[in-house]
Amino acid sequence: MTLVNERASRALKEILQKPGNNECADCGAPDPEWASSTLGIFICHTCSGIHRNISEVSKVKSLTLARWEDGEVQFMSENGNLRACAKYEAEVPMYYYKPSHKDCQILKEQWIRAKYERNEFTEPEKELPYEQSVREGFLWKRGRDNGQFFSRRFVLSDRDGTLKYFAKNDAKEPKITIKVDTLNATFQPAKIGNPNGLQLTFLKDFRTRNIFIYHESSKEIVDWFNAIRAVQLHYLQVAFPGSSNVDLIPKLTRNFLKEGYMEKTGPRQTEGFKKRWFTLDHRRLMYFKDPLDAFAKGEVFIGHKDLGYSVKAGLPQGTHANRVWHYGITIATPDRSFLFTCESESEQKDWITNFNRVIQQPMSPQEYAMEALFKHKP
Ligand SMILES: [Zn+2]
Repeated sequence: MTLVNERASRALKEILQKPGNNECADCGAPDPEWASSTLGIFICHTCSGIHRNISEVSKVKSLTLARWEDGEVQFMSENGNLRACAKYEAEVPMYYYKPSHKDCQILKEQWIRAKYERNEFTEPEKELPYEQSVREGFLWKRGRDNGQFFSRRFVLSDRDGTLKYFAKNDAKEPKITIKVDTLNATFQPAKIGNPNGLQLTFLKDFRTRNIFIYHESSKEIVDWFNAIRAVQLHYLQVAFPGSSNVDLIPKLTRNFLKEGYMEKTGPRQTEGFKKRWFTLDHRRLMYFKDPLDAFAKGEVFIGHKDLGYSVKAGLPQGTHANRVWHYGITIATPDRSFLFTCESESEQKDWITNFNRVIQQPMSPQEYAMEALFKHKP
């Protein structure tokens, strides 16, 4: 008996060429090397690891290393990624965040479990856990000063379009009320040091404020995340009645374009370069002393090239301020230049690529308003 069924292997290779099968059914990563022989889908290595944990519904097999039977191959041929998508993703709500291969583990895991284990999206009108008019519960919130996490009550209200949290369990007044249209939520497992760590960023008195939360259960925190998106979409639909969902979806939570350390110097370049943590959130470049700071130390608005914004490698001649890192970046804005240094050439290139992406993009009316706000900031 040969271990490999040659006929089956050849047939599998052909099935892989069919539309939809050339990328992972769950995260879109190219060239899947695994399959679920019970769901009839082709998946990537990472997602195959998640499927292993739902063995009641999914049997994982390597496309190249496992022996495939003719019947299994037949099943793969009759199903495949597009058919499975039509079935398991038939009723995914517009606001639900479908992760890509770049997203964190728990977003992918909960997406896969929601699809195949909980069958959340197979039939219309199903009651979904992130569509309550009020969502209330306890989340662990990082304290501002000592980095300890405290259990805090959070309330997300669809009617008010707000997320509130309470410092004491019996408190009547919330510690903070966040309008969902100023709120961003992004998973930050490495930064927060917890696989379920979520960063909330919002505007408080025109300043950017961060809070860091998690829940012990990956399902709970991902449900909170999608519940925030559901409330945001509803809020935007009411605020912009003429807009299509396609225009509104990009205004929901978004991933930061890039984060990392750079050095920066002040406007007169006399005080030397200081190492800071930078977050590029579309047109806002924020910097922090520590990645987990509650407030940004400063922010730079990055507008469109026609309005006098540009980025280039290197520092102006005669930059005297002391610096440790050598790979310079100069960002010009209509008001002044900002000078940065990166630790390595690849970091410098990556930052410049991301800055250019923003600078090349035309500005929306809301971004013009944001630019004006930045200029009048005290
Ligand atoms: Zn995948």
